[in-house]
Amino acid sequence: MGNETLYGKVAVISGAASGIGAAIARTFAREGARIVAADLREEPAAALAGELRREGADAIAVAADASLQADWERVMARAEAALGPPDILVNNAGRQHVAQVEDFPVETFRELLDVMLMGAFLSTRLVVPAMKARRSGRIINIASINGLVGFPGKAAYNAAKHGLIGLTRVVALETAPYGITVNALCPGYVDTPLVRNQLAELSSLRGIPEDRVIAEVIAPLVPQNRLLDPSEVADYAAFLASERAKGVTGQAVVIDGGYTAQ
Ligand code: NAD
Repeated sequence: MGNETLYGKVAVISGAASGIGAAIARTFAREGARIVAADLREEPAAALAGELRREGADAIAVAADASLQADWERVMARAEAALGPPDILVNNAGRQHVAQVEDFPVETFRELLDVMLMGAFLSTRLVVPAMKARRSGRIINIASINGLVGFPGKAAYNAAKHGLIGLTRVVALETAPYGITVNALCPGYVDTPLVRNQLAELSSLRGIPEDRVIAEVIAPLVPQNRLLDPSEVADYAAFLASERAKGVTGQAVVIDGGYTAQ
């Protein structure tokens, strides 16, 4: 105890019940952080917090919709009461919807922006004052390579992720004098339910069986010819959250198996 890179740090992670968020919660807990697992889905978030506690970490789950101001206020109040003021905020909650722009449901477009962009603004504005007062803090926004380059069919997701990188840069500049760092982590294709849920659609679109979509459609898009494991993204997030990354701020850092090098 005491050698972990995030020892004693309180980390609030949205969308922590699944995929990348769950991997970040597990990795941060192993590094000594105290975890607030926030997610729309209460049951898997509570199961994750229970798993982390059984392994000796401090962890709580809070059911919350990341797109709602009142829910974020409740998450931060619960975090502070149970574990202390947040040292690390990870805005990870997200969802996907694929449609051509002219067919994109207006309400769905708004919902995606609300979760992935408004949500990050709503949480950030709550943690920054105490981080400024303590002159330390880490904000990690899980963006995407979709925040850097366009993908057909993903108007809302791309707009939200591009906006999230813009928000990251502004908050990084505003907080740089206070020892706070703010970065956008931009993964490529990661093997999570968010990607797996698109396999059926891609299978009928390409006319190939669902179990071959990853090997034949997605992996070949990536120079490393594979999907990333969520733990690889979590390791990068753990570095950004650590003291060693104190000079890295306002950046969109990419982990994508070489995708955007093409
Ligand atoms: P996932 O579907 O496995 O997990 C997303 C989690 O977010 C779920 O537990 C879900 O319940 C939660 N969530 C959704 N809407 C929410 C809301 N309104 N409030 C609170 N929680 C909500 O997806 P994932 O692949 O782990 O994605 C996590 C993040 O990583 C997302 O922001 C996504 O855009 C980003 N990302 C994923 C990939 C990828 O290839 N999987 C690539 C780049 C970026």
